[in-house]
Amino acid sequence: MRMMGFGRDDTKETPDMVIPQVNEILEPVKSLVRVRFETFDRELTYFNDLFNLKEGDRVFVSGKLAGKVGYITSVTTKFRIRLSDYERVIAVAQTPVHGSYVPVMDKMLSYDSIALSPDEFRTWFFHPEEPVDGPEEIIYGDGYVIPLDDPHKAEGATPPVFDRALEYCRTGKIGYVSVRDGVGRAYVAGSEWYELEFTIRNNAIQEAYCSCPYAGLCKHLLAVAIMLSVMAGNGKLDLTRDFVLIDTNRFYEMIRHNEQAVTV
Ligand SMILES: [Zn+2]
Repeated sequence: MRMMGFGRDDTKETPDMVIPQVNEILEPVKSLVRVRFETFDRELTYFNDLFNLKEGDRVFVSGKLAGKVGYITSVTTKFRIRLSDYERVIAVAQTPVHGSYVPVMDKMLSYDSIALSPDEFRTWFFHPEEPVDGPEEIIYGDGYVIPLDDPHKAEGATPPVFDRALEYCRTGKIGYVSVRDGVGRAYVAGSEWYELEFTIRNNAIQEAYCSCPYAGLCKHLLAVAIMLSVMAGNGKLDLTRDFVLIDTNRFYEMIRHNEQAVTV
C-alpha cells in the first residue's frame, strides 16, 4: 500500500490512517478569491462569505459562469470592495476523497466505511441550484429488477439498450456507485449526470430507478448492473459488503487539486 495524492502534512500519518478534512465544518471566512475555469481558460474574482476556502478548492459560483466548475487559485482576506461588483462562491466540493482504494478494472474500489459518500460525490459534479429531480417528481411502481448473474434476462433489456449500456461501461460513463446496507446510489454521465437508486437483494438489482427521462429500463441502470455483474463474476467485487466504486479518471480529477489523505 502506498500513500498518494498527499502534500505537506503527511508525515504525521501512518499509511493506514486517514484524516477526513471536511470543508463545511470549518467556520466561514470572508474572502475574495480568484477562480480559474480551465475549460474556458478564464480566471475571475468572486466574493465568498459561506465557506473557509483555500487554494485548490473546487467551487461553483453565481453569475455568468453558474454551473461551471472552477478551482481557487488564490484567497485574499484583506479587501475593501463594493459587494454589488462581485458574484459569489455558492458551493464548494467536499474534499478530500477519503478512504482506502484499490483499482478494479477502470474503477477505484473501497470497502472503507469513510469512503466518499454519494452526497459528497454529488458536490463535485452537480451544480447546487440544479436539483437532479424536478420539483414535481413522482415515483410509480416497484422499480426495475436486473438479475446480476445475467443482466440480459432483465425485463426490458432489449438488444439496443443492452448495447448502449455496454458502451457506457466501456467508456467510463459510470462515475460512481455505492452500496450501504443494501441500498445503492450511482451517478452516470450521459449528456448530463443522472442519479440512480436501487437496492441489492438476492443477487439482483431491485427497486431501481434512474433520473433520466427514458421510459423503461434505461441504459444507465443496465450499465451499472452489467459492471457490477462483471466485477462480481470475476471475483473482483464482493457484493455482500458495503462498497464504493469511483471511475478512475474522476478519482484522479478529484484528488488532483488537493492535498489528500487517500490510500491506494
Ligand atoms: Zn437512465
